[in-house]
Amino acid sequence: MIESFFFFIGGVQPKIKVLEETPRRCPRCGLHQAYLKRVDHYLSVFFIPVLKIKTGQPALFCNRCERPADDSGSDLPRSQPSTATRSCSYCDRAFPADYTFCPVCGRRL
Ligand SMILES: [Zn+2]
Ligand SMILES: [Zn+2]
Repeated sequence: MIESFFFFIGGVQPKIKVLEETPRRCPRCGLHQAYLKRVDHYLSVFFIPVLKIKTGQPALFCNRCERPADDSGSDLPRSQPSTATRSCSYCDRAFPADYTFCPVCGRRL
């Protein structure tokens, strides 16, 4: 009971941040409907984001195609998906190295 209640009040939520108000041309459909957005992950309590645990990579999301539009002809810097992991010094769990907060215990690393 206690664990399910804790799961209900706390969790990790994605939060989409629009980095540019000006639309760019979508390389997939050719329309100026693509916006530069970034998906950050927040540790949230009662559905209120309280702590940013991961900053996402900027990517073009097309409103028309409804998916990321950066896989062809993009001028954005390309980043390799990192497979490196670190482990938390408090709870010893492993997680991707680009996290700034432990997703398990929520402490700053
Ligand atoms: Zn498109
Ligand atoms: Zn931890």
